[in-house]
Amino acid sequence: MLSAEQVAARVRELGAQIAHDYHGRKLVLVCVLKGSFIFMADLIRAIDGVPLRIEFLGVRSYGEGTQSTGVVQITHDLGRSVEDEDVLFVEDIVDTGLTIAHLLDLMRTRRPASVKVCALLHKPARRRIEVPIDYLGFTIEDKFVVGYGLDWGERYREVPYIAVVEHAELAH
Ligand code: 5GP
Repeated sequence: MLSAEQVAARVRELGAQIAHDYHGRKLVLVCVLKGSFIFMADLIRAIDGVPLRIEFLGVRSYGEGTQSTGVVQITHDLGRSVEDEDVLFVEDIVDTGLTIAHLLDLMRTRRPASVKVCALLHKPARRRIEVPIDYLGFTIEDKFVVGYGLDWGERYREVPYIAVVEHAELAH
């Protein structure tokens, strides 16, 4: 669906935009595990001149298959407080929106100065809840995708491009 070169070019643009918007401030990037780890690694290297630190938030919203359950389980929480800090969520993909909506609610209880969302991919066709995506890489059609950190039953995260899984419903 998207070549490694297309993804890299877009990630550089997102990084530049974030660097521009947060100029003169400090930033906490919160990587939503596991799917966002490669995106996060490339993104932070594209954000020039903004002092930043990183945190990881582990969530499980899918089983081994491809259907959203709407249930979000925290498997790893932030290592440090983000109170009064500017937080930017780094998400691989916003599908129904349920995961990031839940994480935004959770984050607000931690009283950061601000919270924004950066997502590499968005599938608006499956939206079930309206969520603001402040920085978006690509809007994609309703296909189950893998690669660049995204898995299918824990496989294919290492694929350097974004690919479509045909007959993903057969994953169960
Ligand atoms: P949402 O709660 O927005 O429906 O789902 C968000 C999470 O579901 C993503 O962070 C990701 O882990 C998973 N997800 C949604 N769509 C896809 C997809 O096409 N491929 C993969 N590998 N994961 C997906």
